[in-house]
Amino acid sequence: MAKNYLNHIDGKWVPSIAGKTFKDTNPADWNEVIGIFPESGPEDIERAVQAAENAYESWRLTPPPTRGEIILKAGLLLKQNKERLARLMTREMGKVLKETRGDVQEAIDMAYYVAGEGRRLFGQTTTSELKNKFAMSVRMPVGVCGLITPWNFPVAIPSWKVFPALICGNTLVFKPAEDTPASASEFVEILRQAGLPPGVLNLVHGGPKTGEALVHHPRFRLISFTGSCEVGRLVGEHCGRTLKRCSLEMGGKNAQIVMADADLNLALEGAVWGAFGTTGQRCTATSRVYIERKVYDSFCRALVRRAKNIHIGNGLKPRTEMGPLINESQRERVHSYVSSGIEEGAHLECGGGFAQGAGLKRGYFYQPTVFTHVDPKMKIIREEIFGPVVCLMPVKDVEDAIRQVNDTAYGLSTSIYSRDVNHAMRAIRDLEAGITYVNGPTIGAEVHLPFGGVKNTGNGHREAGQTALDIFSEWKSVFIDYSGKLQKAQIDAD
Ligand code: NAD
Repeated sequence: MAKNYLNHIDGKWVPSIAGKTFKDTNPADWNEVIGIFPESGPEDIERAVQAAENAYESWRLTPPPTRGEIILKAGLLLKQNKERLARLMTREMGKVLKETRGDVQEAIDMAYYVAGEGRRLFGQTTTSELKNKFAMSVRMPVGVCGLITPWNFPVAIPSWKVFPALICGNTLVFKPAEDTPASASEFVEILRQAGLPPGVLNLVHGGPKTGEALVHHPRFRLISFTGSCEVGRLVGEHCGRTLKRCSLEMGGKNAQIVMADADLNLALEGAVWGAFGTTGQRCTATSRVYIERKVYDSFCRALVRRAKNIHIGNGLKPRTEMGPLINESQRERVHSYVSSGIEEGAHLECGGGFAQGAGLKRGYFYQPTVFTHVDPKMKIIREEIFGPVVCLMPVKDVEDAIRQVNDTAYGLSTSIYSRDVNHAMRAIRDLEAGITYVNGPTIGAEVHLPFGGVKNTGNGHREAGQTALDIFSEWKSVFIDYSGKLQKAQIDAD
């Protein structure tokens, strides 16, 4: 029997007020129901906001090292439960077990990293232009924050928001993706077990309507969103009109450059992992590869050979290299992009259809797909597909490659494979992206560095690293005048 999950509000597991529910199924076997979840409405959001408001004063005044201790404990509990969570996540969203283990590991890393922040949260002390006056800056929490996350990193992405937001002293209402609510519930339960006080982190399940109700609730001070550009735009528009703080992490159209002087085997490994890891459903997935003309034909042949041999199946099986897409509509979407590529005249080198075979009948499996002869105006090279589809293009030299990589509306991740330091340095300087890898694929973020992108990928914030604290805290400048007299800045300074 499928498990009944609940919302988590004010420290208690509760159903939605209207009693509506939705079903979460396994994308590798749609007959398997992972659980039944509450479909939350504005009234549930209101209840969660109230709980977060009630908890705020006490959490804001809890010493940050104490907050850090709870986060550290959550990290240790995540570690203890890593295998169980990874298996649940593979059943819930399909990616292979070694990747779901990595997803949980990222949350563990983030917990350890952020816990230490409890004893830092550094501001600055500085000079004053006046005598007998002291100046410094300190971080303050923002208040009650609303968090909305996608399904492709069901524990890692929530941890990127929840841990930094908590260490800064905020209280939270968290709406995870409707395709991965079980992983989110387990994550919240771990924080509860770690000793997080009631009301500090509230969980409301639901789909786009619940997300919309959250964004439109007037008492959030901040909305932190990760997901598609389409939805991010709506979130940003509303926050702009209502002057809510807002951080948006959105899509990508990431590219790898392969120079003729590169270690070509390494570049091939990188392209295969970048394009087909997580079934191409990473915001940092490699969907374009620009290859120096001299090695273009041989590189394409090798990549197509590798793509054809990828073992597709249920991510729990040890042999599986690539799992299913997340749901039926995502499979239709990927397929319609592939059809548009063929119609627009690109050459389909392999894949291009639903994957068939034993064990694949009841899942949203799709073949690894490679296109060549792609024109820069085609939809498959301009829009984010979010599936196992990669386009291979020849380039004349490094300048040509950089120009073509930059010819996109997005700017998340880029990579260059080359043994020439001049090429690498040029790429680092000139690629318009939040992340550039040298001799590594476009995927592989680490939690202690800023994560995010330029252009349509984001709105100027960075998650992870020190920069996450800038999303979830407000700066205050403090001046302490111990001269005992009225001193006027800019006027008495000389
Ligand atoms: P999505 O935009 O459809 O949904 C994301 C979240 O927003 C979900 O929780 C969903 O329920 C909610 N939502 C949907 N409509 C809403 C609305 N009108 N108002 C408020 N909330 C709403 O994205 P997805 O399909 O879950 O995820 C895939 C997308 O996420 C891709 O574009 C991918 O590139 C992006 N992504 C970006 C990053 C990053 O850090 N830049 C990381 C992972 C995924």
